[in-house]
Amino acid sequence: MKVSFVEFGKSYKEIKGEILKEIDRVLSVGDLILRDDVKKFEENLANFIGKKYAVGLNSGTDALYLSLKVLGIKSGDEVITSGYTFWATIEAIINCGATPILADIKEDLLINPEDIKRKITTKTKAIIPVHIGGTICDMEKICEITNFFGLFLIDDACQALGVGKFYGEISCFSFYPAKILGGFGDGGAITTNDKELTDKIKLLRNHGGKPHPQLVGYNSRLDNLQAAILNIKLKSLPKIIKRRREIAKIYDEKLKDIKEILLPISQVYQEYNIKSKERDELYEFLKENEIETIKGDYTFPIEVPENCKKANQEVLRLPIWPTLKDNQIKYICQKINEFYN
Ligand SMILES: *Cc1c(COP(=O)(O)O)cnc(C)c1O
Repeated sequence: MKVSFVEFGKSYKEIKGEILKEIDRVLSVGDLILRDDVKKFEENLANFIGKKYAVGLNSGTDALYLSLKVLGIKSGDEVITSGYTFWATIEAIINCGATPILADIKEDLLINPEDIKRKITTKTKAIIPVHIGGTICDMEKICEITNFFGLFLIDDACQALGVGKFYGEISCFSFYPAKILGGFGDGGAITTNDKELTDKIKLLRNHGGKPHPQLVGYNSRLDNLQAAILNIKLKSLPKIIKRRREIAKIYDEKLKDIKEILLPISQVYQEYNIKSKERDELYEFLKENEIETIKGDYTFPIEVPENCKKANQEVLRLPIWPTLKDNQIKYICQKINEFYN
């Protein structure tokens, strides 16, 4: 039995009729850049998240970058984030001219509030918790810290659409195809309750305002066609999350007796991240059995704290794409059990 990590084609086929109709409508009227579908998507997303405003952007990376920019983060500032994250979080900080300070993670792969506290200096301006794998960070403790020290809070929620309430001034999302709400290409967004930040990010994403720029901006717009597609896909998000939880439950049940591996707990299971000392051997064994997994290895060209290094060596992502069948998941579990016996 062959198991792929993602099944983009299968997900498309489930909603093909609706998608093709929308693509045809958008292309026929020629609504390509910053048209009604973007506006509608922004309303839909803001409602889904429970915030007043959303701004559609070209990627999660630019969502993070523009969030830092609009909050005035600049050279000489320090921004604390998790050492176990996709490189984009750190790129955004560096590209603002600020210094990324990496806090260590706990056993659950999420940023450790105690280590955030230890790393705060007079230069610290913001904290970016990363809700990795679709699991919410310890927000009670993190909000206590940002409130006490008067720091900005930005959620890197690029893996966490649907986890619940967000407390950041700004929350950042990605619609990269493999994300829980994936487009047919790149896409991203921010949500916030702040009107001023919203208006400024709208200027920044579109060359500082067209036709007469009010400031130096970028081209970070969400395509209208992607927005139309995301409007359709957002409707099935609760179903997608439900299916991911179902798959996670099968894994939980069938893998719980293997003492060599640690199982994850998550709200939406963007990833099903297991931890194993024999990660690389397990990866190869599953590959030989035509099961595609991904090593949860976020190694990048700057030094990370101890537990992050360990996670880079031990985390393995098991397939959890919603179109996968129960018998495929059971087959994966059977093979993992075989590996440890
Ligand atoms: C995907 C991701 C990003 C970047 O999103 P893009 O849309 O690919 O630019 C940032 N942070 C995290 C944690 C991600 O998983």
